[in-house]
Amino acid sequence: MNTTPKSMRLQVAIFGRTNAGKSSVLNLIAGQDVAITSPVPGTTTDVVEKSMELLPVGPVVFLDTAGLDDASELGALRTERARRIFDRADVAILVVEPFGWGDCESGIAAAAREKNIPLIVLVNKTDIAAPSPELLAALKERDLEPILCSALTRSLGEVTVSAIKSRLLQLTQGKAGPKAILGDLVRPGQTVVFIIPIDKEAPKGRIILPQVQAMRDLLDHGVFFLTCREHEYVQALAALREPPALVVCDSQVVDYMAANTPTGLPCTTFSILFARFKGDLAAYAAGAAAIRALRPGDRVAVLEGCSHHAIEDDIGRVKLPRWLKQTVGGELKIDTFAGHDIPAGLGDYKLAIQCGGCMLGRTEILGRMGKAAAAGIPITNYGTAISECKGVLERVLGPFPAALEAYRQAKAAVKV
Ligand code: SF4
Repeated sequence: MNTTPKSMRLQVAIFGRTNAGKSSVLNLIAGQDVAITSPVPGTTTDVVEKSMELLPVGPVVFLDTAGLDDASELGALRTERARRIFDRADVAILVVEPFGWGDCESGIAAAAREKNIPLIVLVNKTDIAAPSPELLAALKERDLEPILCSALTRSLGEVTVSAIKSRLLQLTQGKAGPKAILGDLVRPGQTVVFIIPIDKEAPKGRIILPQVQAMRDLLDHGVFFLTCREHEYVQALAALREPPALVVCDSQVVDYMAANTPTGLPCTTFSILFARFKGDLAAYAAGAAAIRALRPGDRVAVLEGCSHHAIEDDIGRVKLPRWLKQTVGGELKIDTFAGHDIPAGLGDYKLAIQCGGCMLGRTEILGRMGKAAAAGIPITNYGTAISECKGVLERVLGPFPAALEAYRQAKAAVKV
């Protein structure tokens, strides 16, 4: 049950001051001790992640953060880490004590509002005291309806957990992006061809997560698929009684696919499918047009979603920089940033290129796109950038008219 990738789970962050009972709340929801609790303030020193199937909400990952009021030097680092969780969260839970409302709670509520993250307030320790008039007034002022709870009184747990679930359901309706990766682009009974190169970068004995997810999506939609390597593609097409409804390839062979796919047969890449599923494809497409405006010496920020082990022929660190330099006709200053954090000074770059984001959720990717927009720079992603470098972006955006239009408009506006 817990094999849904984290990036596909609803990300629920638990915030509050030290010793408000955040970890006890997580343990209550999980029905087991996943986070260490103690009356000693500051027991949660880093973010604790717990994935679970929270029926009827679905697959969820809870992010239990350090107290945001820790004034020690080490505490400052922890709270900074906890604050960054706002960039990933789909929903925030603020755990407060019944005695009052202070700067810490105000700051969390303000950050959630600023980032447009729905907020659930849990008033914990109600076995010790009823919510104070000050607390109730602060909640009323912010239009927040609290859930009363006593995380250590397990007999009351079921009621609290049901209230949290129903609030999560209510707050997350319509928050998800497209429901399908590609199942909505084709009809049941049609066939999709996948082209998956098996090169040095392909992991041994398996295929990568986005490809598995695309296949599962087609199974869910009753769509057939045929998978081949690039050198078998033409033969695979010929083996089909009817042309497929769509061809999807790994971005690395996008030029090969475009050259060998009959005109009129829609084709795209896994990366573009996921750009739509988890991000804003039209914005990425418009961002790719900015590659043509790059000049030798310009700075480009490559944003990797995790610190994966880079291999010899790494797509983001070796191949993409090579293709970008070839397209621009000279050296670029390319800085790579790995992990959940976005570098300060993004505005100093001419372009940001986000990785495929297989480890990131939609909220986090959209947050990154928002930061690039706020810094006034275009952003695209690996696959969209590769298709642009190889001169076939118009072709692979064909199945997505709005993104194609955004790309054409951005390209027309670019001064080459
Ligand atoms: S695509 Fe991004 S998130 Fe996925 S493994 Fe590569 S760097 Fe990490």
